[in-house]
Amino acid sequence: MQEIADFVGDSLELARAASEVDADVLVFCGVDFMAETASILNPEKKVLIPDEGARCPMAWFLDAKTLENAKKEHPDAEVVLYVNTMAEAKALADCICTSANAPEVVNAMSSQKIIFGPDKNLAYFVQKRSEKEIIVVPEGGLCPTHHQISLEDLSAAKARHPNAEVVVHPECIPEVQEHADFIASTSGMLRYCKESQSQAFLIGTEIGLLHRLRKEIPKQFFPVSKHAVCPQMKMHTLRKIEAALEREKPVVSVPNEIAAKAREAIERMLKLNK
Ligand code: SF4
Repeated sequence: MQEIADFVGDSLELARAASEVDADVLVFCGVDFMAETASILNPEKKVLIPDEGARCPMAWFLDAKTLENAKKEHPDAEVVLYVNTMAEAKALADCICTSANAPEVVNAMSSQKIIFGPDKNLAYFVQKRSEKEIIVVPEGGLCPTHHQISLEDLSAAKARHPNAEVVVHPECIPEVQEHADFIASTSGMLRYCKESQSQAFLIGTEIGLLHRLRKEIPKQFFPVSKHAVCPQMKMHTLRKIEAALEREKPVVSVPNEIAAKAREAIERMLKLNK
């Protein structure tokens, strides 16, 4: 699938690329929140998602009502949400972040108290890099694919490849983060593995990234867990892409009012990130 794409990247890279390409129709082979983000940033373009069932379970952990309640409970807090949220939640945020910039975004906010969601593991990563008080909403938000990568998986992988550097995603559980040599977003992993002196790496993230790492970097890459597969991301097929292009549907659309508020929160992050 990655081989037929015009652009391969993480959610933010894809949304940015979507703004830059000269095409009226975009086919987004990611999960729902990514396609929504592309549509929010490119309201004049038609965004298609080949399989509407490609829903990110992490994004659905946080609904607007839960977030509204947290805001009422902590009126002095600002809200920073991971880009892996649905548009309705984004519309209630002060700023969006990605796994590549979450600590920097949180530290750039003016409040000392930050409502952060929906990933409790990313919240752990941020809290270790911030003096601010982080209130995690909801309490149990996580990515099932990353959360299942265990310390036992890591120990077994290290035993198989003792000379490999361990690079994991901040959506992994705290114990795995603590035993990693480097923690980074997917784009951060690519950069780090290119620049590192090491020739072999154990990668703790969704295994689809290994294809890109192996293609772009002439080094050795092994998954920490070969079971780290996100079924939602694998729902799109070549046939579904063809059908979406022929029929120009299913179209991803976000109501104007929600899109406008969500866009403000995303654009605030983009300004901070310059
Ligand atoms: S890997 Fe996790 S965060 Fe990414 S789309 Fe799948 S469930 Fe969502």
